[in-house]
Amino acid sequence: MEAQRQARVMISSKGSPSRFRRVCVFCGSSPGNKASYQLAAIQLGNELVERNIDLVYGGGSIGLMGLVSHAVYNGGRHVIGVIPKTLMPREITGETVGEVRAVSGMHQRKAEMARQADAFIALPGGYGTLEELLEVITWAQLGIHDKPVGLLNVDGYYNSLLSFIDKAVDEGFIAPAARHIIISAQNAHELLSKLEEYVPEHEGVAPKLSWEMEQLGHSRKSEIAC
Ligand code: AMP
Repeated sequence: MEAQRQARVMISSKGSPSRFRRVCVFCGSSPGNKASYQLAAIQLGNELVERNIDLVYGGGSIGLMGLVSHAVYNGGRHVIGVIPKTLMPREITGETVGEVRAVSGMHQRKAEMARQADAFIALPGGYGTLEELLEVITWAQLGIHDKPVGLLNVDGYYNSLLSFIDKAVDEGFIAPAARHIIISAQNAHELLSKLEEYVPEHEGVAPKLSWEMEQLGHSRKSEIAC
């Protein structure tokens, strides 16, 4: 296990090692109203490039999704866009740079993105981003995976979500240990550094392998076409 982890360690162009080979980014299919959101998407892409980390994301070129994927692709790193066949027409999501993986639906897309990634990062976004983020947090809580989950809290965009989660801890609906699943930071450099240091503290409640098979196995074999 440790040897596998060590084998994945890459030496970045800055000279600092990264334990991540590929990171999954969830983010808005819209650009948002502030230039700071768009800048943060580009900076996250550049930070991944600096650390020699590849990208997996939801495919297409619209909104922040396009900005982060172009930054990673133009920086010379590998990009995988996982996209349901129904969203493939270019007029819906725009062109995907890098490798395109077609899947049969949104559930298969999330499972494939999760399978491909060593860590997750959410930039600002809407319902889709929140849904993807909360799912990987829930999966971490259950022990389906122990990959770090980061929140890029650009200009305090996620302050109210973090306050809500603190309230849920206070009210007894989220275990304090599970609160630590979410790593947040205001910029990409700080966030990646925190994610590199992350050690899971929560107790998983489900046997990993059976959950993984259920979530990823069937969809992978029968429904994913590259
Ligand atoms: P949202 O935050 O609602 O804009 O949704 C963005 C997230 O949901 C992304 O991370 C995508 O994986 C997925 N998504 C939602 N809408 C689209 C779309 N039109 N094209 C591609 N992905 C989308």
